[in-house]
Amino acid sequence: MVLSLELMTRIVEVNPDDETAVVEPGVINAELNAAVAEHGLMYAPDPASYRWSTIGGNVATNAGGLRCAKYGVTRDSVLALDVVLADGTLVSTGHRTFKGVAGYDLTALMTGSEGTLGVIVGITVRLRYLPREVHTLAAFFDDFPQAAAGVLAIGRARVQPAILELLDGCTLEALDGAHGSDLRRRGGSLLLVRTDGYGAAAEAEAIRSALAALGASVSDEGSEEADRLVDLRRHSRGDEVDDLYRVGEDVAVPKSRLVHYVADLEAMAVRHRVRLKVVAHAGDGNLHPTFWVERSEGEQARQRLEDALDESVRRALDLGGTITGEHGVGQYKRRWLAWEQSSEILELQARIKQVFDPLGILNPGKAIVS
Ligand SMILES: Cc1cc2nc3c(=O)[nH]c(=O)nc-3n(C[C@H](O)[C@H](O)[C@H](O)COP(=O)(O)OP(=O)(O)OC[C@H]3O[C@@H](n4cnc5c(N)ncnc54)[C@H](O)[C@@H]3O)c2cc1C
Repeated sequence: MVLSLELMTRIVEVNPDDETAVVEPGVINAELNAAVAEHGLMYAPDPASYRWSTIGGNVATNAGGLRCAKYGVTRDSVLALDVVLADGTLVSTGHRTFKGVAGYDLTALMTGSEGTLGVIVGITVRLRYLPREVHTLAAFFDDFPQAAAGVLAIGRARVQPAILELLDGCTLEALDGAHGSDLRRRGGSLLLVRTDGYGAAAEAEAIRSALAALGASVSDEGSEEADRLVDLRRHSRGDEVDDLYRVGEDVAVPKSRLVHYVADLEAMAVRHRVRLKVVAHAGDGNLHPTFWVERSEGEQARQRLEDALDESVRRALDLGGTITGEHGVGQYKRRWLAWEQSSEILELQARIKQVFDPLGILNPGKAIVS
């Protein structure tokens, strides 16, 4: 049985003074943001898919996004859920207040459970004030590892950017090809930084001097160009094409390991003879390396692609990271789950699934190893 919630699109309530909203799961992320902007508010989690992904899907995957560098992931913005359990019972978890610690946190458990524990039919979200001021900087570096070092320099300058995205040279070339921009000409790697709030200009200035000291060429983007750059970043994973075997990954590593990991990725691509481009929600240490080979190179190339993927995931784990920062495990990443989690943890997760869904009818074969 396939269940579609796409007609559940009502924004049930917006409570500006409480900074909350109640929505049905089929509401599109961008539509919620447009509705609450009228009240000077925003729903912070903004996956690059925000124009078409739903709040229900965002909650089920605990989606991240660009603004998570400052405002946290979806779980940090979900206060309460209405959930239909596997036996048809409707339950409400959580509370309408920002604080609340009564009992086990079932709202947090449901968030990111990838549809395996229940069907989310109502969501109470926490909203944030729309910043009055926003500043965007584009810092171009000669190469990718230098740009990754820039991420740490921003931290040392004690600034918390709202957006901190890292794009490598190959991604810049692909964007230029698709959108007619001239990003690659401006540098070998781009760190895109946005500060927000009343201190936005001062924070941007502190970032500019920290990155310039590392040799970056930093430009203060006018608001139109800045929006265009952020928009290009949202498109940076590219469109599907038929003549490639291509896999986009989603590992995360501790921020201090970004520079090492980026250098390792580049070496891996050379060793396995696969192509590589990388974008990263660098403020969270969350990287999306995309590896690909030409289909025309045949099965051996496909095997090289798989080997590169496996090695990239292993390396992320060795550095203290995770196999998935925001996209979830789904089906594809189940093969790596036991690399990250002990048999005791896998067993506990299977038992939780058993409690919520004894017949195994909700998204079977996804998210956990059972
Ligand atoms: C170009 C592109 C960019 C992306 N960028 C990001 C990004 O920046 N950050 C990020 O985190 N993700 C990103 N994603 C991944 C994806 O968009 C997100 O995971 C998003 O949250 C999925 O929402 P959806 O509405 O498309 O959900 P769907 O794909 O419809 O569902 C996702 C999963 O949740 C389950 N589910 C959906 N609704 C419910 C519900 N109401 N109750 C229970 N289970 C449910 C589904 O069964 C499925 O397992 C991106 C994807 C693409 C294609």
